[in-house]
Amino acid sequence: MTKGLVTAGPAIETIPVTKPDLLLLDIDEVVLHFIDPFSTLLEEFGARLTPSSFRLTGNVHSIATGAAVSGNELDRVTQRLYEEQEERQMPVEGVGPALTALSELADIVFLTAMTPSHYESRRRLLDKAGLRFPMIATQRSKGGVAAELMEKRTGRLVFVDDLPPNLVAVSRSVPEARLVHLMATTLFRDCLPPLPPGARQAKNWPEATDVIRSLLAA
Ligand SMILES: [Mg+2]
Repeated sequence: MTKGLVTAGPAIETIPVTKPDLLLLDIDEVVLHFIDPFSTLLEEFGARLTPSSFRLTGNVHSIATGAAVSGNELDRVTQRLYEEQEERQMPVEGVGPALTALSELADIVFLTAMTPSHYESRRRLLDKAGLRFPMIATQRSKGGVAAELMEKRTGRLVFVDDLPPNLVAVSRSVPEARLVHLMATTLFRDCLPPLPPGARQAKNWPEATDVIRSLLAA
């Protein structure tokens, strides 16, 4: 473990290696909806998300006054969403059947930057949805974790995330990683930043399943 950075979940060396290939999945906006329930929570606080750029800060405004909501306030809403995730964060459409099918081809691990103290409630939420794959919640860079997960493996790494900087971090640490961008919400579709070279894009799980299958076969 990297000093000072908190991680929750199974130690990497205890995660079973049953197949050569690894499918490593971000959770928020990939496996569970985040932005749509975040928007719902904001509206309950009298604010609205209307993205004109690929970030939350500066794109959330008070419905009553039009004033921008600060980053600190948005962090508090994020923590509230994580606290209430079992009621608010639903699985992304089609993720269950997709992962059941893809688990025949590769081991699956979830890697989330969610505040690690919410690990237990997220674990319950995933288990209830039948998504019983190992989960690591960490403040570390996803690149370092991906590299450690691949140390004992001889096959391919396919990594899926909605945030391009995470795709870049993993490709720096594991240069041969195959990258997929998937973001469940349509709200940010018009302001996506450029993806790293070679990254593939999918708009939903049926598309992502085809892309991941082709990357695992190539
Ligand atoms: Mg995410």
